[in-house]
Amino acid sequence: MGRVTIVGGGIAGISVALAMLRDGWTVTLCEQAPAFAASGAGLTIAPSARAGLRFLGLEAAFEQKAEMSFPPVILDWASGAAMAPPDIDHRHLGQTRRLLRSDLHALLVDALPRDGSCQMRFGARVVDVDEGDRAVAAILADGSRIESDLLLGADGIKSRVRRYVIGDETPRFTGYVAWRFMLPAEIAVPLLRGRAVTITCGADATLTCYTIGKGRLVNCVAIVRSEGWGEEGWSIPGDPAELAAHFATAHPDARAIVAAAAEGALFTWALFDRAPARGWTRGRVALLGDAVHPVLPFLGLGAGLAIEDAVILARSLSAYPRADAFRRYETGRAPRAALIQRMSADQGDAFARIGVERTVGTAPFFDRSLFDYDPSTVPL
Ligand SMILES: Cc1cc2nc3c(=O)[nH]c(=O)nc-3n(C[C@H](O)[C@H](O)[C@H](O)COP(=O)(O)OP(=O)(O)OC[C@H]3O[C@@H](n4cnc5c(N)ncnc54)[C@H](O)[C@@H]3O)c2cc1C
Repeated sequence: MGRVTIVGGGIAGISVALAMLRDGWTVTLCEQAPAFAASGAGLTIAPSARAGLRFLGLEAAFEQKAEMSFPPVILDWASGAAMAPPDIDHRHLGQTRRLLRSDLHALLVDALPRDGSCQMRFGARVVDVDEGDRAVAAILADGSRIESDLLLGADGIKSRVRRYVIGDETPRFTGYVAWRFMLPAEIAVPLLRGRAVTITCGADATLTCYTIGKGRLVNCVAIVRSEGWGEEGWSIPGDPAELAAHFATAHPDARAIVAAAAEGALFTWALFDRAPARGWTRGRVALLGDAVHPVLPFLGLGAGLAIEDAVILARSLSAYPRADAFRRYETGRAPRAALIQRMSADQGDAFARIGVERTVGTAPFFDRSLFDYDPSTVPL
């Protein structure tokens, strides 16, 4: 095969590293952080992403760490009463799992071979790409170069590789700010009143809570509308009083959950997105994951899309010459990514509408066809 440099050691980067290593590529993985850090909250893994993990040979290890998903119960903002359930097909939930992002990341990292075929470079921030006729180089912040036959940009929403492939537009602030925190089960489970997943919907805020960590924890994510945002990043400490103010008019259980956030680690981050992109590849370089199609978290499909990308990109490269493989990769993936970007945004609007109308009514919940996709078998 050849040498590939992968920029970014998130879920997209490590998944594609594993897929390329299977096919005999020699991998150099550049991660800007000094080490892999276990951060992030809970993740939903849809059936399509599970199929991707199966393709990577990780099904058994994944199933050990993951747990079942359950239909969400939508709660009225003011009273906390459960609303009539939305008229949706929940069959896919039997195949959906959830787990801690840190557990998924660790599972992928542990699967990387130690035989020298995968070289990890930490503290390696890629600032530019230099492409010639015979090779492509990642230029690091210290001025050094890593030459290879292919370069894959899996460097997240603020991707530097994207600048080379698509151009220099900045992500746009969506008007949402997210807050995440974990509560011990003994505090939060009673406040869920026997439900596994609750979503409290207000006009300007949602609070989603679900058990995770094999029943030890409750993962809580609040998403609120906001005029502006401060710092960027995933691990910015949040102010509990500010979060509590957003939920001052919510039902007592939601207020109690939000108040309990003050006892532990509370993080906040602004949600950015980008319009669906065209031109995911250029020469010897391709993009995947959030670098090419960041999605809002309302459907919980961001990490899954990254795994799907990794599988399709590696399958394409193992079956076709590079230019043809890249063309098939983008043609196959772009419509699905654009659909999920749009539906994730629509789902955010639907939650807000429920908050205003105080009924689930005809709010457009997700389309089941989103889940009938298997990256390991879909024609290339
Ligand atoms: C720390 C963290 C916490 C997260 N927490 C959540 C969460 O709680 N819930 C949720 O739904 N989603 C979360 N996400 C996002 C979610 O994991 C991603 O949307 C999804 O998995 C797609 O992953 P990705 O690999 O494309 O991008 P990312 O997960 O953003 O990974 C990109 C990686 O590239 C590295 N990188 C960036 N620029 C460079 C560069 N120039 N050179 C070298 N390396 C670079 C970053 O350090 C990062 O490791 C989190 C992401 C991160 C990074």
